[in-house]
Order: sequence, then C-alpha cells, then structure tokens
Amino acid sequence: MPGTILLGVDVEMANESSANYAQLGLDFLQQESIPATWYVTGQSLQRYPKPFADADRSGLVDIQSHTYSHLLLKTVLIEVPPGCTIHGKKDWYMQPGGTVEQIDADLDRCQKVFQDILGRRALGLTCPWCYYRGLGDRPDLLDIVHKHGFRFLRSFGRNEKDGQPVPMVWQPFFYRAQNFPDVLELFAHDYQDDFYYIAFNNLLDAGTYPEHLRRMAEHVVANNFVWSLATHDHSCDTPEGFAQKTSWLRDLVRYAKGLGIRFLTGSQYYAQRLATRPV
Ligand SMILES: [Zn+2]
Repeated sequence: MPGTILLGVDVEMANESSANYAQLGLDFLQQESIPATWYVTGQSLQRYPKPFADADRSGLVDIQSHTYSHLLLKTVLIEVPPGCTIHGKKDWYMQPGGTVEQIDADLDRCQKVFQDILGRRALGLTCPWCYYRGLGDRPDLLDIVHKHGFRFLRSFGRNEKDGQPVPMVWQPFFYRAQNFPDVLELFAHDYQDDFYYIAFNNLLDAGTYPEHLRRMAEHVVANNFVWSLATHDHSCDTPEGFAQKTSWLRDLVRYAKGLGIRFLTGSQYYAQRLATRPV
C-alpha cells in the first residue's frame, strides 16, 4: 500500500476569502480529481450558505466543522524554538482556550447551523489551533464533542512544545483509553500550513516548502502512513491569492498521485476505520 493523504482545509475567515474558497477550492479539486474535507466554521457557513451547500453536493467535498466561532478547546502554550519568532514572540506564546460552558454552547450552535444549511449535522471536527495530545488528556471535552455528534477529530496537531512539526509516526487512533472507542483522532501532521513551515524553520519565505512536501510524500509511501495534511482559506479573497495559496498544494497533489498515494475524505477514512476496528 502506498499510503493515504487526508487533505483537510480550515475554512474559517467568514469573509470574501471563505466565499472564494468555496468556489475556487471546488474548481481545484475537480481539476486535480481528488476529494477533500473542508472544516468550515459555523460563521463562514452561515454567511455564505449557497456556495458551501453547492460544494457539499459535488461529491468531492466533505464539509465538516471547525467550531462555530473558531473557539479553542484547549489553551495553546508554544515554547518558541531558539532564533524563531512565533506569533510575534521569541520565548513563549499563549493562546487561551474557552471554558467548558463556552465550548458546549459553541458546538451546539455550530451543529444547528449545519442542520439548517446542509440538512445534517457534522461528523468531523477540527479543533482551532490544535493541541499536543489532542483531547486525550481531556475526557471532559471528549464527552462534550461526543454528545454533539462528533466522531472524528483533528485535535492533535502540535508536538510536546505545542509547536510544529507533528511527526508522521504518530498515526490516527481511537480514543479507546478514554472510553470513547468510536471517536477517531486523525491528527494534523507536519506543519499546519506554509506560514508555520516558515515560522518554525526561521525562513524568509516558503520557497522550499514544495521540496519538503515531496520528501514527506516519499516518507508516507515508504511507511504506508496516513498523512492528515492541513491548509487554510487565508489570503484567498482574490483569484491571485487563491492561486498563490494552492501552488504548493497542486505540486504536492500531482507528485503524490504519481507515487500512487490515495486521497480520502475524513468521512471516508472514518467509515473504513470503524468497519475494520478490532472489537
Ligand atoms: Zn482554524
């Protein structure tokens, strides 16, 4: 088996960038003949219902949740690598998470928007910013996400310093130890996007990102890994911005297909894992 890529896009800007992404992102997937999962905030979906409902019917896009308001479920505390500047900080950077009550209310609101606009609830959830250990050390939060109907997560997307990259050797797992054996963690592997590749490697630009991604694709093939690959709708408010944001992705998709890597949505992968999990 030559490995699997789960392409996941956070569509979170709730402005022209998100609306453009809904149309141009679908064109991109059609051109490259691959499926993807878009983790859309309730705010983005509510503001631009039609393009997302159209994409949802396309057969290529699996629309899932990125919370209603981009609320963090856990606090992120980044230990900035020596010489780097992360979110403007050179030593530590903290981004606070919401309270349990805020999270419960946010996910409830998000599922109501999904039901209203798409006629169904979301099964997958990407947790804003992602965390070390995902929700593995927060069974109280697993209980909340389970209660709201979420069954696959991208919540584990940082290493032990709350930084990047997230090693591919950490592979998707069910939260069995926490007594949620039907909740699957997909991870967000490597770098969450080009901007974090630049920041955590102290680079001036993302010029070497395509080469890095090609090496990662070879790593996936050699080990038959599942690669949960992430990007965002940032700077996609113009066709030029979209083209720039997807140039490295297009290069990777073509290279990965040439290596025989398969592309699945989060929902497709979850269904496969659920059907084959040991009882
Ligand atoms: Zn996000």
